[in-house]
Amino acid sequence: GIIRLVFAGAVLLNATVSMLMLASPYGPSGTPAIVWVFVVLALQIAAIVWVLTGPTPDTKAQFLGFLIFGDVGITSVILLDTPTSALIGTFLFAINGALCTFFLSPRVLLAHLAFTNAVIVLIGAMAYVQDLWGPWDAIAAVLVASGASSGVPVFASIAWSLVSTDAKASDLDSLTGVRNRRGLQNSVEDLWETALATASPVVVVMIDIDRFKTVNDRFGHDQGDAVIVLVATRLAALVDGHGVLARTGGEEFVAVLTDVDGDLESVVSRITETVHDRADAIPVTASVGVAVLTPDSSLWSSGPSAVDRATRGADSMMYRAKAAGGNRLLSTFL
Ligand code: GH3
Ligand code: MG
Ligand code: MG
Repeated sequence: GIIRLVFAGAVLLNATVSMLMLASPYGPSGTPAIVWVFVVLALQIAAIVWVLTGPTPDTKAQFLGFLIFGDVGITSVILLDTPTSALIGTFLFAINGALCTFFLSPRVLLAHLAFTNAVIVLIGAMAYVQDLWGPWDAIAAVLVASGASSGVPVFASIAWSLVSTDAKASDLDSLTGVRNRRGLQNSVEDLWETALATASPVVVVMIDIDRFKTVNDRFGHDQGDAVIVLVATRLAALVDGHGVLARTGGEEFVAVLTDVDGDLESVVSRITETVHDRADAIPVTASVGVAVLTPDSSLWSSGPSAVDRATRGADSMMYRAKAAGGNRLLSTFL
């Protein structure tokens, strides 16, 4: 909702400027120029209506279209005014630059900055040629306009990339690099969509290393950490492409997988042997609980919360595997 209002507000600002220019004696003169400003104005009003009432723009192509419409529209209109006013008009490019930052890529932002700075230099040159400014005034004005319209999106871009790096990091476990509980929750939503769309079973796997306290006691916490990292790396390689893996506790992992290709059974059956390698410096085993949720299950229609149920099911199977002596896998169908 807020994004729609911001977009509509930005176009409204441009449309208002177009109308003020039409009213000004220094504005566009001659029938073709005035007709063109009216055309752009009509497009701007249509864009406002579309932004406020149409379907939410969500593809890159739509945002790119919006950017090109904005950059070309602004340029074509401000060039009809006197260079002095036109240069002030180039500050509007900062808004389009912010659009690149948040909805498009750094490469598109660079293309936008190259285009808008070329326009700014052109306007400065026109002011100089038309004897409105001396060379130093023209250069200074070009630098100010360029700094304002490029600086804002460049700083926004830097801040945005820092924030998104942080956001990604907060989904990951810092020791092993696999997801943490929060990261698991975020990716399970997507995985559930895929499973639902393809009517593929969802499999929740709970993995807990056996007697891990003795590893810490005998070899120290650092060696214990190294074992956790090794197990995480092996599990991640095994489930790669089939779903997501998270470290949800000290030496406990959860994998949520979906059987789109129908070959998940072989992946799941290899989990215990993946954890254990007798050639390791500190060989460990794991107890594994598996819960399979199939589309014909009565839980299927209960949405992503069915995954929570499956997690509890996998957890209780894991405890049974543990109680039976560990180093084994037990599964249940829900
Ligand atoms: P079992 O699962 O077979 O019942 O025994 P366990 O020894 O693995 O028992 P439990 O799961 O209760 O204990 C897990 C231990 O893992 C407790 C804690 O000392 C250790 N641990 C938890 N987080 C870490 C960690 O980040 N690094 C290391 N090195 N140890 C950890
Ligand atoms: Mg354990
Ligand atoms: Mg544990």
